[in-house]
Amino acid sequence: MTGTHSANSSTPVAVVTGGARGIGLAIGQWFLSNGYRVALLDIDADTLMPAAARLQDAGRVLAVHCDVSDPAQVQSAIEKVEAHFGRIDSLVNNAGIAVFKPIGATTFEEWRRVLATNLDGAFLCTQACAPIMVRTGGGSIVNIASISGLRASTLRVAYGTSKAALIHLTKQQAVELGTVGIRVNAIAPGPVETEMAKLVHSVAIRSDYHDVIPLERYGTPEEIASATGFLCSKAASYVNGQVLAVDGGFDAAGVGLP
Ligand code: NAD
Repeated sequence: MTGTHSANSSTPVAVVTGGARGIGLAIGQWFLSNGYRVALLDIDADTLMPAAARLQDAGRVLAVHCDVSDPAQVQSAIEKVEAHFGRIDSLVNNAGIAVFKPIGATTFEEWRRVLATNLDGAFLCTQACAPIMVRTGGGSIVNIASISGLRASTLRVAYGTSKAALIHLTKQQAVELGTVGIRVNAIAPGPVETEMAKLVHSVAIRSDYHDVIPLERYGTPEEIASATGFLCSKAASYVNGQVLAVDGGFDAAGVGLP
């Protein structure tokens, strides 16, 4: 291994899904900057491979092409991570897709695809990683949910439902896996400037977000990454089953989503 941090078999390992860009890539960089070795999993190999190579301390990065909604691909990807690094200490279930459409316009295929990626993916990756974490004394998992999982609104029948379910999955996982030394928490980001936001946030939604967020701006991927890193760190060693809104005060204001 090369890089500014030296690595050995006891160096912690973080797995980040959807790590090719946006919030996942920033989370990967946070772990690297904090001395971890990192496995980035993503369905988009063309974006993942160059992104992983460009990261600071890329010698401590393993990039694995994987669709998190496919049980066989998840099993094989996590086996690769264990074979390469020998352990897994943190898992961030970040891979997600958004379809913003009214109920009548959302096809069954879109509904299934959103739930398969945002919910099944977190279930499958947790199921694959947890036994490996247990072998080295435990670990921590963070599920990247959304304020759309806290507050119902128009256009988000599939996306909001998937994130609300992910928040409940977080609590189920925390209760069960806490007994074997794995803490599980969720982050509920407000709007963050990424390719996803470019895709689904219309000019009207952007303007409305400005009005309902007390800090009057979008978050950055790095702001979600540092909160995720905190939840994975020893500083959060008694935090389990919680949802941390990283949203500029949106949830506290108690207003509706645009
Ligand atoms: P993004 O679209 O920029 O990045 C998502 C990444 O996930 C991409 O690299 C994509 O290829 C990957 N991915 C998609 N489907 C996958 C699959 N089946 N298997 C593996 N990888 C897959 O999005 P982002 O804004 O960085 O979002 C990251 C997470 O944060 C998502 O779960 C999203 O729902 C959540 N989130 C984003 C915002 C926002 O405003 N950007 C707000 C709240 C929550």
